[in-house]
Amino acid sequence: MTVNHHPSNETLLHFAAGTLSAGPAVVIAAHLEQCELCRLRVVDFESIGGMVLDDMPPTRLATDAFARTLKRLDETTASSTEGPIIAERHAAVGIPLPAVLRHCRVGRWRWLGPGFRWSKVTIPESPDAKVMLLKARAGLRLPAHGHTGMEYMQILSGSLHDDRGQYGPGDLDEADVNVEHQPVVDTQSECVCLAALEGDTRLHGLLGRLLWPVVGF
Ligand SMILES: [Zn+2]
Repeated sequence: MTVNHHPSNETLLHFAAGTLSAGPAVVIAAHLEQCELCRLRVVDFESIGGMVLDDMPPTRLATDAFARTLKRLDETTASSTEGPIIAERHAAVGIPLPAVLRHCRVGRWRWLGPGFRWSKVTIPESPDAKVMLLKARAGLRLPAHGHTGMEYMQILSGSLHDDRGQYGPGDLDEADVNVEHQPVVDTQSECVCLAALEGDTRLHGLLGRLLWPVVGF
């Protein structure tokens, strides 16, 4: 698998420091499962963070954050042995899910628009995090939309493109408030993504109008 789109250094730094909020952290962890380059960058950032911590008076918060990050990395790189619950989730979604989702609740597919479905992902320790799986049929053209907060999207299967490039399996799209785009699913197959939204819930454009009343975000 060739990964062409990665999280920003800032995002990986926050992930390494344990300061990325729960929803985006799940999406970044899913990316790390598929991207050795970013795994190595996170390890580098943790080394830097560790050196900085060595020069600072110990604080419980920093120690906890570091421990949480290590635990998350362990989980990310752990064996992919799958129990029956994961198998059940696979059947529900139709594709292999990232290992990081094994402790999350994955809801059934719900209608979001013609050829467009979503499934709510609930993180038990952060139930308010806005995380979802999105599934769009081959060739589906989404109307242009913007964002009022950060949007992180990891491509799990299929591919899509917009005027910034093409995104395939393993790629992570990180869109901020400056991004206005019109993703189009490539024609070969449907596309399934894991997405997390941050910030103001009032997304504008079609995606916001679709998601807000239906998803309750
Ligand atoms: Zn990467």
